Amino acid sequence: MLLMANNYELARTRMVREQLIPRDITDQRVLHAMDKVPRHLFVEDALQSQAYGDFPLPIGEGQTISQPYIVALMTQALGLQGHEKVLEIGTGCGYQSAILASLCERVYTVERIKNLHIKARRIFDRLKLLNIMCKIDDGTLGWPEHGPYDVIIVTASGPQIPSPLLEQLTDPGRLVIPVGDRVSQDLLTVTKIDGVITEKCIEKVRFVSLIGSAGWAA
Ligand code: SAH
Repeated sequence: MLLMANNYELARTRMVREQLIPRDITDQRVLHAMDKVPRHLFVEDALQSQAYGDFPLPIGEGQTISQPYIVALMTQALGLQGHEKVLEIGTGCGYQSAILASLCERVYTVERIKNLHIKARRIFDRLKLLNIMCKIDDGTLGWPEHGPYDVIIVTASGPQIPSPLLEQLTDPGRLVIPVGDRVSQDLLTVTKIDGVITEKCIEKVRFVSLIGSAGWAA
């Protein structure tokens, strides 16, 4: 049992050294979080040995957890300092939420599929990630009761940036979202400064679809 835990620690350290540092992940806090959060606990038992590979993995319900590099890239793009209130759309297995939780004050995360929400909530409890609040809903509408948010991250891809999310972003504020068609998308870093919205594409990506009233039809 101890040996297994050590193996996963080694796999994680290798993941950081081989997949993240040689690419453009330079934020030390992000590298540290990726080195600490036990990614294998967020996937099914049968997939645990593959959890630190350089690829996405299925998490059930036709959804996927992004490859470690993409999680790190999106997290780095958020520029978290530690004091932020973050909104995440697309809880999925909860791995990205756990990374965020170690880098900011509080995470609000929304998932539309009940089973994924329940499993994620279970692991948040198990790992005592007490600064993550989660709910089942259409995240394209945001989570207005707790807004505005300093930072918003969307981990599924839509045809456009949902306007409720822009409204629930602080000024200044930062949002990261993949936008494009159903097959390929631009990973956008969106900033709001003095009411002006600016977009920058940081990577070409392929995400599962953001389904909801300001996303794609089911
Ligand atoms: N951050 C997740 C990524 C999961 S994949 C992780 O680390 O595992 C994207 C998730 O977005 C899927 O679980 C999908 O069900 C969810 N999703 C898609 N449209 C959504 C919407 N409108 N609101 C909330 N979640 C949504």
